[in-house]
Amino acid sequence: MNSIVVHYQEIALKGKTRPWFLSRLVRNLRGAVADLDVRAVRPLMGRIEVELGPGATREEVGDRIRRTFGVANFSYAARTRLDLDVLTEQILRELRDRTCQSFRVSVRRADKRFPMTSPEVEREVGGRIKSARGWKVDLENAELVVHIELLTAEAFYFFGKERGPGGLPTGTAGRVACLLSGGIDSPVAAHRMMRRGCSVTFVHFHSYPILSRASQDKARQLVTLLTQWQQRSRLYLVPFGDIQQQVVLAVPAPMRVVVYRRLMMRIAEQIARARGAQALVTGEVVGQVASQTLENLAVIGNVAALPIFRPLIGMDKEEITAEATKLGSYPISIIPDQDCCTLFTPRHPQTRARLAQVESAETVLPIQEFVEQAVREAVVEDFQFPGSVSGSGEARRSATREGGRW
Ligand code: ATP
Ligand code: MG
Repeated sequence: MNSIVVHYQEIALKGKTRPWFLSRLVRNLRGAVADLDVRAVRPLMGRIEVELGPGATREEVGDRIRRTFGVANFSYAARTRLDLDVLTEQILRELRDRTCQSFRVSVRRADKRFPMTSPEVEREVGGRIKSARGWKVDLENAELVVHIELLTAEAFYFFGKERGPGGLPTGTAGRVACLLSGGIDSPVAAHRMMRRGCSVTFVHFHSYPILSRASQDKARQLVTLLTQWQQRSRLYLVPFGDIQQQVVLAVPAPMRVVVYRRLMMRIAEQIARARGAQALVTGEVVGQVASQTLENLAVIGNVAALPIFRPLIGMDKEEITAEATKLGSYPISIIPDQDCCTLFTPRHPQTRARLAQVESAETVLPIQEFVEQAVREAVVEDFQFPGSVSGSGEARRSATREGGRW
């Protein structure tokens, strides 16, 4: 079995844009296996065939497919001529060592010119397997499902299906910029947007050299992990400590958290626009912390003209943690660090900020200068998966660490 048959679901529904979605998915799959011995990734009448070379294991290729959004399910498959004798013979050969209590055959006919209907082929091939192996047919609860897909000149067969990640192919929904802290929530928020076909650019605010570099390293690790799902990412590391110190001097303590957040939004918006991103994304959740009351969310959101998406807004911490664990971001997120906000966070932040009050407190700050300074000093790093140098299977960073040159 040296093929993997990939099925897509949701994109099949997308009407006239379907060829575009499909070509994007094919391109993404090609990118995802670029460093592996894969001979071809080709669209074939409603499915995609990934043809493996001798140097690729199906597990490692399967692992990449499992991280390619737009894939509904996939199966390790073999290709034969479109000939029921040849097909049945090969299936029986493949099943040689296998025992099972019950089975059924499931046929899909992509080319309706084939002279038998799908149920007829199911009965025919099923009957032959039954008499060769003596297995019981069970249409409801078969232990083994033999799938057959009949195309124009060839057929595929495979046993069982693996679930793909679903969603839409990366790049089909446009770009967003995610404010990525070192915490648990924002990587999950980014992943949810990726799943809907968005390309995500990451913006991390840090307070180095006032605080350690730990938060930047966490951000890099998180972006490395997330890049496995979109193949290319850009991370903007924005120095924020200076700005926070100036806010501390000028703004009453209870209001500071909201003022920091509004500054972050303004800076992220500027970066987003330069990158062609159409929205900002945060990991905010109603009521999670003081800065995330409805009132504060509104005042924070008020500064950005771009839409702000908060995909986790109604989730419990437990649900988010479960998702982070599944994604693999959780162990990175819980590495201790001094987040830029913890140092400068007052003990009793205001929970019901009023816009007029905050705006008046901000009048003493050189907001535009802050934004320009932060954008100018931001350091850009690019990430790529799979790494371009060799096929270690690790997302690799090809860092362009030149401050401000973007
Ligand atoms: P997370 O929400 O990612 O787990 P957290 O809980 O420490 O981190 P919050 O205080 O809940 O962060 O911040 C809410 C949101 O604001 C984050 O989800 C993130 O989108 C954004 N944010 C906070 N701090 C930063 C930062 N240092 N850099 C970039 N974005 C940040
Ligand atoms: Mg949070």
